[in-house]
Amino acid sequence: ATPTALLAGTSRGSQLGILIRSAQVLESTQTVDTVVLDKTGTVTTGELTLDRVLPLGDWAEYQVLQLAGAAEAPSEHPLARAITGAARAHGSLASVDDFESVAGGGVRATVTYHGQPVRTVVGQVSHLVNEGVEVSDAISQQVHSLQEEGLTTVLLAVEGHLAGLLCLQDSPKDDAVPALAELKKLGLTPVLLTGDAAPVARAVAARVGIDPEHVFAGVSPADKLDKVTQLQAGGHGVAMVGDGVNDAAALAKADLGVAMGSGTDVAMEAADMTIMRSDLASLPTAIRLSRATLNLIK
Ligand code: ADP
Ligand code: MG
Repeated sequence: ATPTALLAGTSRGSQLGILIRSAQVLESTQTVDTVVLDKTGTVTTGELTLDRVLPLGDWAEYQVLQLAGAAEAPSEHPLARAITGAARAHGSLASVDDFESVAGGGVRATVTYHGQPVRTVVGQVSHLVNEGVEVSDAISQQVHSLQEEGLTTVLLAVEGHLAGLLCLQDSPKDDAVPALAELKKLGLTPVLLTGDAAPVARAVAARVGIDPEHVFAGVSPADKLDKVTQLQAGGHGVAMVGDGVNDAAALAKADLGVAMGSGTDVAMEAADMTIMRSDLASLPTAIRLSRATLNLIK
């Protein structure tokens, strides 16, 4: 396309709330036939509600919430915001030190609780296991059946021992169903790629119209990158849409990286395009805009 046409396309994009990093990006959309979508905060609102807290051992529900809420306070992950928000609603948060987060896994932190420093870990089963916490088969099964209810479930460990489970509910964005139908009409295949567990991913996919064979769950940030690379090696042009730190590498690798404006700065820096409204309807709009821009000069 001519520089003028591309510039016109970019400025039309910004009017529509689609920020395009460089005009050349519009050309890379030409080859795209597959749209890989992150789940939390991309297909779903990322405004999770805490559905239930299940304490284990001698722990009480409010203690699990207070400890997990404090440990998650420094995290910008949507799950962390929900847990910390719920904990704050029940009282002020304990102070936290030595916070570290593992993208696509969870967090660890030292929380000062009743004047004592306690080591906490919050995250998915594999994260707790990596942190040296023992998770019994019975607990894994309980987590699995909660996930089959569509609940994103994370675990809390205190001083290396399990203290409770926290179950969160997320919903697809309002426009997810029509937007994905629109993408299919444009000849694109939507794929769901998430670090969350398979049962939760399948439940969301079913609600928004993504085929079960196009769902990849339990995927680490490095594996998200590999999945994009694999699709490209299979001859596909890949658009990747995401919002998290865990998506950044895949966004950079994709032929077209699209970040949600509500997401992390890291994701927006890695992407070619940012959707300011963080909606899904902007995806087919962006594809149409690119196609129209490129046809202009043919
Ligand atoms: P998605 O791909 O859906 O955006 P992530 O890759 O960010 O999800 O996270 C995958 C899983 O890792 C989450 O479902 C959760 O179990 C766990 N996890 C990630 N970050 C956190 C956190 N800050 N606190 C607790 N669990 C987390
Ligand atoms: Mg996400």
